[in-house]
Amino acid sequence: MIIKILGSAAGGGFPQWNCNCSNCADVRNGAPGFTARTQSSLAVSRDGKDWVLLNASPDLRKQINDTPELGAQSSGGLRNSPIKAAVLTNGDVDHISGLINLREMEPLAVYGSDRVLTVLAQNSIFNVLNSEKVVRRELKLGEPTKLSGTEAMLGITVEAFPVPGKVALYLEDASKGADFGTVEGDTIGLKITDTETGKYFFYVPGCADLDAPLARRLEGAALVFFDGTLFDDNEMIDAGLSAKTGKRMGHISMSGPEGSIAAFEKLGVARKVYVHINNSNPVLNENSDARKEAEAAGWSIGYDGMEIRI
Ligand SMILES: [Zn+2]
Repeated sequence: MIIKILGSAAGGGFPQWNCNCSNCADVRNGAPGFTARTQSSLAVSRDGKDWVLLNASPDLRKQINDTPELGAQSSGGLRNSPIKAAVLTNGDVDHISGLINLREMEPLAVYGSDRVLTVLAQNSIFNVLNSEKVVRRELKLGEPTKLSGTEAMLGITVEAFPVPGKVALYLEDASKGADFGTVEGDTIGLKITDTETGKYFFYVPGCADLDAPLARRLEGAALVFFDGTLFDDNEMIDAGLSAKTGKRMGHISMSGPEGSIAAFEKLGVARKVYVHINNSNPVLNENSDARKEAEAAGWSIGYDGMEIRI
């Protein structure tokens, strides 16, 4: 299986268009140790020809143009696309709005939880994806599903499972208490398996807490892509960027006794890669103490174009 990080940043990307925090200013100015990043998405393929998107970010058009395997192929017809399916992990703007880039009448299968498919159905702009070409399929939680495009099987099996999280920001309902109306299926993780070889990896780009069921599931895995939104729970507040903690945004932070670095320490995961990294995160500076701390604990900081084969 070939896995490519198309976008390693969280919502807003890096730099974020309206942000003048020190990270965004440094990457904008070309400071050494900083690399620009697009918004959250991976691509996976069994054979290097047919591809599956894991989330569809607003930067998808750039990501496709930066990844020749994903654009129209010279061996295909006048118009063609190697992207046969897209799997969505939640209804966040940075994970679904890229679908609108795929409106030019190519066959596509879109997979999501019942909750996420409902969001698509309720937002009529997604009807630009012509239903004669684009099918929407429910990904039932806990049921391994063999992915297919609109025509052929793709050799990849996906199992979606609920992870602690929060409903998308634009769907929050303050009248529904401290969790803003979050229900199971609002945020899911994916186990992605090569149907033929049985090799698998996990993709968990949004996660509020590494609770016991999730820890058990990830234990001993060969490869996990995990939520790297913030380094410190108070980082957005300390930088004067926002009044929200990471917890309030539905994201576990990297550092501290309750952070993901500590939580993964005993899980025996062979390869750990942070994705969905917010522009405020100090690990984006290659020379920072935070970067050294994450790398010393065995983590890779994901970057756009990173390719892993399993
Ligand atoms: Zn910034």
